[in-house]
Amino acid sequence: MDSVVIFDTTMRDGEQAPGATMSLEDKVQIGKQLERLNVDVIEAGFPANSRQEVEAVAAVARAVRKPIICGLARPVFGDIDAAWEAVQHAARPRIHVFISTSDIHLDRMLRKSREEVLEMSVKGVLRAKGYCQDVEFSPMDATRTDPLFIYQLLEAVIDAGATTVNIPDTVGYAIPEEFGGFVKSIMDRVPNIGRAVVSVHCHNDLGLAVANSLAAVKVGVRQIECCINGLGERAGNASLEEVVMSLHTRQDYLGVTHGIDTTQIARTSRLVSDITGMAVQANKAVVGANAFRHESGIHQDGVLKERTTYEIMNPKDIGLTGSVLHMGKTSGRAGFRAHLKEMGYDLKEEEFGKAWESFKEVVAKKKSISERDIEAIIAEEMRTVDETYRLDQLHVTCGEPGIPTASVKITTADGQEWTESAVGDGPVDAVYKAISKVVSLPNQLQEFSVKSITESTEAMGEVTIRIQSEGQTFVGRGVSTDIIVASGKAYLNALNRLVAAKGEQAPVKS
Ligand SMILES: [Zn+2]
Repeated sequence: MDSVVIFDTTMRDGEQAPGATMSLEDKVQIGKQLERLNVDVIEAGFPANSRQEVEAVAAVARAVRKPIICGLARPVFGDIDAAWEAVQHAARPRIHVFISTSDIHLDRMLRKSREEVLEMSVKGVLRAKGYCQDVEFSPMDATRTDPLFIYQLLEAVIDAGATTVNIPDTVGYAIPEEFGGFVKSIMDRVPNIGRAVVSVHCHNDLGLAVANSLAAVKVGVRQIECCINGLGERAGNASLEEVVMSLHTRQDYLGVTHGIDTTQIARTSRLVSDITGMAVQANKAVVGANAFRHESGIHQDGVLKERTTYEIMNPKDIGLTGSVLHMGKTSGRAGFRAHLKEMGYDLKEEEFGKAWESFKEVVAKKKSISERDIEAIIAEEMRTVDETYRLDQLHVTCGEPGIPTASVKITTADGQEWTESAVGDGPVDAVYKAISKVVSLPNQLQEFSVKSITESTEAMGEVTIRIQSEGQTFVGRGVSTDIIVASGKAYLNALNRLVAAKGEQAPVKS
């Protein structure tokens, strides 16, 4: 049975989702988790974007060794050189060259003729080929391009050395049967198509990205480009978890296999959601909170008698074990370390030290600890790489009647201590105002959300906030058994990321 190459573009197309910006550390962390998930290819970014992007992709290439690491480039030498500069550090590098091909893009955007686009594409592939063997080519907006031009172009780039040709439905316009037919025509009409892997990249504007991808598999496509949680431009890309679980559950019909370790799906989904601050809707297929919940009495009765009466997938297959750890106040450092290892985390000494401190704090407040709690601790510790500001103390008074008042003590990386207090409309507002008195970075709060990580009143609360400063968005996350504390941590986390992005010394109000 053929295997389908799973090409993850969470860190490139997914990052293009509004507000889903990822730092270098975020990318390395996601890259390592994608490696545990065992994806075949990771598109880690678009290096020509900026110096930071070159460095972030290079960091992923150095840290993540098993999958192919891919960098995106337009067919211009500067882009391709930047892509190579970043992916050359990979054990298995790939350069992905793309250019628009539809008449509307050519006339209105690129202002180039088909002949010019064809020539640029071939030159681009040759340039990439000079750096590495593994070269992918994509005609952007393929589904709105004259098919005859696509056939001609693909033949030329395969002759130039492209080893994967990808058919993007860039604007999410295709309908499954039609898309399958289009891809089939490519297979039939491009004479040298057998020398390349054929791939698809579908967008979800009409909610058909996964369906289109599967229709393409049915006619012989052997690479699918997708994103965790279906992130991506506008309505997003085909969701990796839905594509993979479709291949998995309906192998009888689709007739192909894949290399994904499906038991890592739930954790990967949560990590990406945590890092990007983009919540997964409850009724999302496969990874939504309700995906395996049965509400009606008839359904519950069925599932209790025999799970498969209403479940086509086993929640264990995507890593939802629901297991509670046999770790408590008496569990030692070594036990905690061993457990982290079992969960697939390999932390540096410093990171481990911080995670251990947080773990002890949580254990002191909570009777039972689940793997989900540990994941939340790790995700938080690994996010706060440069802690320019640290929340040392937080005190809030509120009530009815009463004026919500917060006092905070913040320590800066260079050891200065600052204490401030403020009143607000509510306790969270008061905390934000007190912190803002210490850290003078103008920003607007865009979004604030609280959710509980596990289900009980003693659950850990997780606060995600999004702030905007000079047009850039920063996500902050904080976890604590106390949601007011979590809010303060989340705000400081976002401010630390803002400082890191601006690359300047922390301004502190005196
Ligand atoms: Zn895309």
